[in-house]
Amino acid sequence: MGIITDREIEIKCPECKYVQMATIGDAIEEKKVICGGCKKTINLKFKGDDPTKIEQELNRLLKSIPKKITIKI
Ligand SMILES: [Zn+2]
Repeated sequence: MGIITDREIEIKCPECKYVQMATIGDAIEEKKVICGGCKKTINLKFKGDDPTKIEQELNRLLKSIPKKITIKI
């Protein structure tokens, strides 16, 4: 899971629209991040999906990656 969960995603603060980075792993674990703009606590969440589904989706994504990065010589 490491490759995917360590990937950074952009988190936009709902209050001040400040954009900051968190990892997918942070979002799955629903960690809290402090906004770099207004210092408000943002609760990371994947829109209503349950973590099991997210993990399945990420695994599916992970399997599809090698196809996308095939290097043509
Ligand atoms: Zn903010």
